[in-house]
Amino acid sequence: MAEVALRVNPHPGRNGGATPRRTRTVCIADGFLPFSAHPVFRMSPLSANHADALPSAAPLPGDSHTHTFRCRHAGGEVAEYARAARDMGLPFLAATDHIPHPGGGTDGLHMTLAELPGYAAAVLEARDALSYPVLLGLEAEFELARDRDWLTALLSRHPFDLVLGSVHCGDHWRLTPASPEATPAKIRAIWTDYARNVIELARSGAFDVVAHPDLAKRTGLLPPPDLLEETMFPALDAIAEAGAAIEINTSGLVHPAGEPYPSLPLLRRARALGIPVCFGSDAHAPKDVAQFFPAAVALARAAGYSTYAVFSRRVRREIPIPLPA
Ligand code: ZN
Ligand code: FE
Ligand code: FE
Ligand code: ZN
Repeated sequence: MAEVALRVNPHPGRNGGATPRRTRTVCIADGFLPFSAHPVFRMSPLSANHADALPSAAPLPGDSHTHTFRCRHAGGEVAEYARAARDMGLPFLAATDHIPHPGGGTDGLHMTLAELPGYAAAVLEARDALSYPVLLGLEAEFELARDRDWLTALLSRHPFDLVLGSVHCGDHWRLTPASPEATPAKIRAIWTDYARNVIELARSGAFDVVAHPDLAKRTGLLPPPDLLEETMFPALDAIAEAGAAIEINTSGLVHPAGEPYPSLPLLRRARALGIPVCFGSDAHAPKDVAQFFPAAVALARAAGYSTYAVFSRRVRREIPIPLPA
């Protein structure tokens, strides 16, 4: 039986946030879905110097962050996203709709609890119908890890491949650089709060990936370099200690932020700390799958990355970032 050494997110409990990354041996037959036969999932973890030598069938990395109509503010069904990804030659696509919230209803942003089984079925059916690796994921607000039993029970209902953790709340949604309220002191407070929440997210150990890691710049409230370091470097330390990955999310290019999440200085720091990356378009329509991924690949390479993370049943492995054509 084939065995590969995988780097596993230990998902430590609330008190175990500082658990270091570790390596564990997993049997593919035990730990993976049938689509592990797909070439992308057959590659064993690669050292950085092997990565560049490998022929890359895929022109762009897989997309680990997309939303369907179930989010109420997105359009398209899983199979449409998967078909778009397959036609572009992406090695995989992850559906990561917004997680149902404990009340079970919708706020216009999240699917209802009653919709969760249909969502999981849509992913598994697209996977079968297209014979294409469609990963079953969710995007979850970090606050949900405060009720760990609820979150664990929800995630145990279906064979989830990855869970993105997000810090969505905060004044960074409301204020823009033009807001009279956006004083230097307020911008400092926004980044301080945001980074504190990222640290809580990381230490919870409940999530595989920190999505859009510097989302606080969404409306263009870019921090001066010293404020960025003071607030976000400790957040990256917490992510590294927790063994989580971060996402290079290209939706920042269509937001007033005008650049992917995270910025190059943060990505360089993440690389120095050994934090893995994955790529996410945050597409809310099938046409936006892998949007701006060439720019994201260039950013990753500029930061020194040659591999990226892919998840199956909450186990992470790293595969080569495709070379530009
Ligand atoms: Zn959304
Ligand atoms: Fe988000
Ligand atoms: Fe999203
Ligand atoms: Zn998102």
